[in-house]
Amino acid sequence: MNENWRGAIARHLLLVIGPALLLGLISGEYAWAIVIGLCAYLSWNIRQLLRLHAWLRDRQPDEPPPESTGLWGEVLDSIYHLQRRDQRARDRLQAVIDRAQESTAALRDAVIMLDRDGSLEWWNNAAETLLGLKMPQDVGQSISNLVRNPRFKEYFDQGNYRDALEMPSPVDDNRRLHVQITQYGNADHLMVVRDVTRLHQLEQMRKDFVANVSHELRTPLTVIAGYLETLLDNGQGMNPRWQRALQQMQQQGARMQNLLNDLLLLARLEATDYPSDNQPVAIDLLLLAIKNDAQALSAGHNHRITLDADPHLKLKGSDAELRSAFSNLVFNAVKYTPDEGTIAIRWWGDEQGAHFSVSDSGIGIEAKHIPRLTERFYRVDSARASSSGGTGLGLAIVKHVLLRHRARLEIISIPGKGSTFTCHFPARQVVQRG
Ligand code: ADP
Repeated sequence: MNENWRGAIARHLLLVIGPALLLGLISGEYAWAIVIGLCAYLSWNIRQLLRLHAWLRDRQPDEPPPESTGLWGEVLDSIYHLQRRDQRARDRLQAVIDRAQESTAALRDAVIMLDRDGSLEWWNNAAETLLGLKMPQDVGQSISNLVRNPRFKEYFDQGNYRDALEMPSPVDDNRRLHVQITQYGNADHLMVVRDVTRLHQLEQMRKDFVANVSHELRTPLTVIAGYLETLLDNGQGMNPRWQRALQQMQQQGARMQNLLNDLLLLARLEATDYPSDNQPVAIDLLLLAIKNDAQALSAGHNHRITLDADPHLKLKGSDAELRSAFSNLVFNAVKYTPDEGTIAIRWWGDEQGAHFSVSDSGIGIEAKHIPRLTERFYRVDSARASSSGGTGLGLAIVKHVLLRHRARLEIISIPGKGSTFTCHFPARQVVQRG
């Protein structure tokens, strides 16, 4: 190539100098003839440069560069080859993008790409059906302006996408969507939305079934318990064996009633996302009442129960639900702590929010059981649990109440030493009392 360029330059100079010398020979003005020749050569070069500049400035995509001869021809040819190579690479890349887009477009799950601020960049067809997004007018719009659901906005803004979100579809209330967000690249978001209406309906059927059965069983059980009580009240002179049997029936009947009450409470907690009575609750007073009940429960076991609660700290939520959750935790501490043990109840606040904890010096729980404790009917030791009269639903109720108050439960326990159950409430649920 270098050789070609040199040859081209030499040829051009000869073409300029030859006629200039001839002109000099004719006119006798060699110097002027050479100056005129060089000026002509320079103006030709400038013209080529201007053509290249005009092409670079105004060219249509894929328009080839202008043609020329000599050195300029070589330069423009090289540009043309570069342009072709670039074009082929672009075509290959476009084919890959097209394939990726075609395959995601065919997905039944919605795939949506958002930038770091949550503005829409790209989505597939399913996103139009499930979320009602419209191409192209919605490109660049903020997702929380289009998916108008307070829980979605809260989920998107908090930036912690470890758990998925379930919500109704913005286009059809009967459809249930499962939303999962993943962050990638430069804090961009990839949102995958699945239609889980069928699963949700099955889950709803299960909940309704449990709630209905519990409700239906309540009346016959109340009648049986009532007759048992009457029989025992009038049991003077009854065979002691029968009396014992009746007493046991009454005990088990009471257990079944507790169980049904807990199942109905759980069904109620599951029916809505957040409590309807979202009022500031004076937790210190609530805990004082629970402490007194715990003392009554512990009668004869000599537990030392202490309460340390910040009276200025209120919590937004449902008084009844919080009472139920906190008393479950405190009563468990009483049930699972041997005589003379200590139980410390605390309620305090810091920058993260407010915290409620119950520490006991009880039997403790092995680490392998801790992740499963909040499952319904999960028991560490079924023999001991049934003797303590528990329903196995206490911690499941605690978990649901906490979820409804945007809180989480932390359990730390050492077998033989004791356990600490802590409920962490976010700052937005807390109200400071003057
Ligand atoms: P239960 O009605 O059986 O107490 P829960 O859901 O309240 O049901 O508790 C589940 C299990 O967790 C209990 O069976 C018990 O083994 C264990 N547990 C709960 N609280 C404590 C505690 N403070 N100390 C030791 N074990 C506990």
